[in-house]
Amino acid sequence: MATVSIPARTTTILLDIEGTTTPITFVKDILFPYIREHLEDHLSTHWEEDECKQDVHLLKKQIEEDMRQNRSCPVHTVDQTVHTDEEKAIREVVENVMWQMAADRKSTALKQLQGHMWRAAYTSGRIKGEIYPDVIPSIRMWREHGLKVYIYSSGSVEAQKLLFGYSVEGDVLDLFDGHFDTTIGAKVDAKSYGRIAERIGCRPEEITFLTDVIREAKAAEEASMNVLVVVRPGNMELTDEESASYNLITSFSQLQLIGRA
Ligand SMILES: [Mg+2]
Repeated sequence: MATVSIPARTTTILLDIEGTTTPITFVKDILFPYIREHLEDHLSTHWEEDECKQDVHLLKKQIEEDMRQNRSCPVHTVDQTVHTDEEKAIREVVENVMWQMAADRKSTALKQLQGHMWRAAYTSGRIKGEIYPDVIPSIRMWREHGLKVYIYSSGSVEAQKLLFGYSVEGDVLDLFDGHFDTTIGAKVDAKSYGRIAERIGCRPEEITFLTDVIREAKAAEEASMNVLVVVRPGNMELTDEESASYNLITSFSQLQLIGRA
């Protein structure tokens, strides 16, 4: 396995999650199916609790907004197995959430409900955050060499903390100096990377960013970060031109720190 040396000026490693530290399938095959499978049960169990009431309230406002904007939304059909008003209301919420997820909507209402359900799943041990086996040993080694390590993912900071706080390797949150999500800006926008450097308190040149997505790699490079493209099973295939333009790694253990104490 070829080694890739990171520049001596690098003081900070910035990591993407999906396709970089974690299989891209984790979200698609574990997190989203969990919602689909447990939604009705979750709503029935917590229907009378404040947090669940707030989630449902937000979803209803979203439905009203969608109706006003004439976005297609499932119309509730009379279901013979539904008897009480509560069952009917739950069924309506389930239908709407399924519809939003099928349409890949990113509404705040949907994200909030999903976040609450995932938190319960992680804390009860029903879901564990997946991390490739080379990731944690490498991060520990980088830290021993004095590098700082940050996360930048489109998943919310709260979701990132759940993944690493309840991971297959246990709670590894103490290995990270901080977390960024898209509240700092889109991952394909060079300005976001400038802001991250500013927030960390260093120059973009001092940061090495690891991602699987070429558009993110381009944006980080435009902001003067050093970039490595991570190739993992199931990641989007790179074109020959893309492969030729970037340093590629298939494992974090390929990173070599040269000339460091
Ligand atoms: Mg990614």
